[in-house]
Amino acid sequence: MAVVPLQTKHTLRRITKDIPTSYRPSLLRLRFTCSVTTTTKFRPNREKLVVVNPPRFTDTAFQSTWSHRLWVSAGCTTVFVSFAKSITGGFGSNLWLEPTLAGFAGYILADLGSGVYHWATDNYGDKSTPLVGTHVQDSLDHHECPWTITERQFANNLHFMARGTTLMVLPLDLAFDDHVFHGFVSTFAFCVLFCQQFHVWAHGTKSELPPLVVALQDIGLIVSRERHVEHHRAPYNKNYCVVSGVWNKVLDESKFFEALEMVVYLKLGVKPRSWTNPNSEWREETEISKC
Ligand SMILES: [Zn+2]
Ligand SMILES: [Zn+2]
Repeated sequence: MAVVPLQTKHTLRRITKDIPTSYRPSLLRLRFTCSVTTTTKFRPNREKLVVVNPPRFTDTAFQSTWSHRLWVSAGCTTVFVSFAKSITGGFGSNLWLEPTLAGFAGYILADLGSGVYHWATDNYGDKSTPLVGTHVQDSLDHHECPWTITERQFANNLHFMARGTTLMVLPLDLAFDDHVFHGFVSTFAFCVLFCQQFHVWAHGTKSELPPLVVALQDIGLIVSRERHVEHHRAPYNKNYCVVSGVWNKVLDESKFFEALEMVVYLKLGVKPRSWTNPNSEWREETEISKC
């Protein structure tokens, strides 16, 4: 017997049309509990839709704490110091081409780095993983209910990357003065620090986003909804990059991550989550999505 893949998006929207607007926020996540065991034309069984989670938009886990704000402030400060060293070095030497090219390289490589990191946390580890366990869990939660990322407060969403940025850039600020080097570091670190904000905007609609953000998305400087949305559609193993998304096409077409997953599996015997059966809970769950 064959199991027909669930195509739920439009059906869910029609179902929720009759629900009072004031109550919709509580229907953050729905789960299909049915599986269809026929090869005839698939018709979703609406009666099997159930609400599985209480409202999460007021969850304290989405709110910023003073610790989050301090880390984001520290990250921004270290990036600013690095950027200032690059600018002042440019004025001092009158050499601008090199730091500009270094900055461009930092921007391009940050997108690649975001993809590799995103792929790793989506596919390996769990909340007990040292250093990145919290972020792994956040990634898993994001895939269960993608649009809730837009409900996270600013510092709550950025603090994890801000910690990494601070711990990486602070020693570089203290140890090096080369303005070309800091041209690379400041741009790379800025993109890493704010990539989760770019990710949030990629889950927004143009009517909700500031015009400047929409303009940056439209010219491809930051990842757009169009470049990210495939990440949340089957087979769930594409478009991992969330700075500009410029690497997504080449990485997906070259099957870079699939090759990497095979290497990890052959060397360590660990399967990535993207190999999980399509009918697993991770894939079946969907939501009243803005994606
Ligand atoms: Zn992901
Ligand atoms: Zn996403």
